[in-house]
Amino acid sequence: MKKSIKDFDLNNKRVIIRCDLNVPIKDGKILDDNRIIQSLQTIKWAISNNAKVIILSHLGRIKSEADKKNNTLLPVAIRLSNLLGFEVKFVNETRGSVLENAVKNMKPKDVILVENTRFEDYPFKKESSNDENLARYWASLGDIFINDAFGTCHRAHASNVGIAKFLPSAVGFLVEKELMMLDCVVNPKRPFVVILGGAKMNDKIKVIDNLIEKSDYALLAGGIANTFLTAKGYDLKASLIDEESINHAKELIKKYPSKIILPVDGYASTKYEDNLKVNYYLLDNVDDNMMVLDIGPKSVDIFSKYIDSCNTVFMNGPVGVSEFSNFEYGTKSIFEVLKKSKKIVVIGGGDSAAAAIRFGYKDSFTHISTGGGASLEYVEGKTLPAIDAIENK
Ligand code: ADP
Ligand code: MG
Repeated sequence: MKKSIKDFDLNNKRVIIRCDLNVPIKDGKILDDNRIIQSLQTIKWAISNNAKVIILSHLGRIKSEADKKNNTLLPVAIRLSNLLGFEVKFVNETRGSVLENAVKNMKPKDVILVENTRFEDYPFKKESSNDENLARYWASLGDIFINDAFGTCHRAHASNVGIAKFLPSAVGFLVEKELMMLDCVVNPKRPFVVILGGAKMNDKIKVIDNLIEKSDYALLAGGIANTFLTAKGYDLKASLIDEESINHAKELIKKYPSKIILPVDGYASTKYEDNLKVNYYLLDNVDDNMMVLDIGPKSVDIFSKYIDSCNTVFMNGPVGVSEFSNFEYGTKSIFEVLKKSKKIVVIGGGDSAAAAIRFGYKDSFTHISTGGGASLEYVEGKTLPAIDAIENK
């Protein structure tokens, strides 16, 4: 059991909280502030316990000087100030005298947001390579380190793993909640159904293997199902198929003949675009040049029978191209079935979580994980380095 923020006396202490404030931003506007909202509980706890709160977070990737302009955390500082109802001081550097003076002048209940930790990635990749000097420097700014950035826990960076070596450390409320909720999937109440959608099978092959093995039934959709159907001899014409994974799909079908459940119908179009004419097909009869981009009602019916017969569901990956209004039917329908089922339902994966929130299912499930890769690695049974780095109780 990891130490919790509640295990420390925070009074008058400089508390460094690593949050995951990596929100989508376009032209300076935040498109979805879910990650900021999810970080509030820990930040508010520290404030109400009289801490001096120093927040670290990354935002996007920094591979050039130009990336810095588009990935400043300034808009996040403004949104965070609005949400907290007082000014969060934004420090526009990741090290140096401005940052050190800002920390020196803090009073209890003050909050500082430090510029994007990945600014340290250009040019020397110090954050992402877990540079020890950088970690030691950030640690020197605080008395206690709290990791609440679940979304990066599968990465060993200076701001989550490195820094924990030099300070007393604990996890925040969000990480605590994520671990507890994901444990519903790590040790599921059976029967256990997984729904695996998304694009390329190759990207997630280990997760797919692991989850199929662990589940009682695996309902497949998206590009993953296309690859399995191709392995079974179907011709899905122009659909996204992961050629490299066809043989692997064949082996899995052989190994788990009654576990793997595939869609039987779907909606298709001639291009990977929205607003084109949509055709409905049974998947053994798809016309030339057509791309299957969503599952159809017969598949939703089949999937819902398996969902109704189980106790726990883990869903990773939308079952269609749910970003396009013409192909959101399947993903929305499956969310509706899951909501009505009242089973233990956990959604993990960046795109699936975003779709659930976008379609209005934010409060309909047991848990929607804030961590894409991190939730998958945890569910796979791997240890997450940034959790490992935190002190035990
Ligand atoms: P997650 O982020 O939830 O783990 P993925 O990143 O694996 O999910 O997959 C999401 C992507 O899969 C989305 O961009 C979606 O458009 C795409 N996708 C889903 N179904 C299909 C399909 N039939 N053909 C092509 N792309 C698909
Ligand atoms: Mg994704």
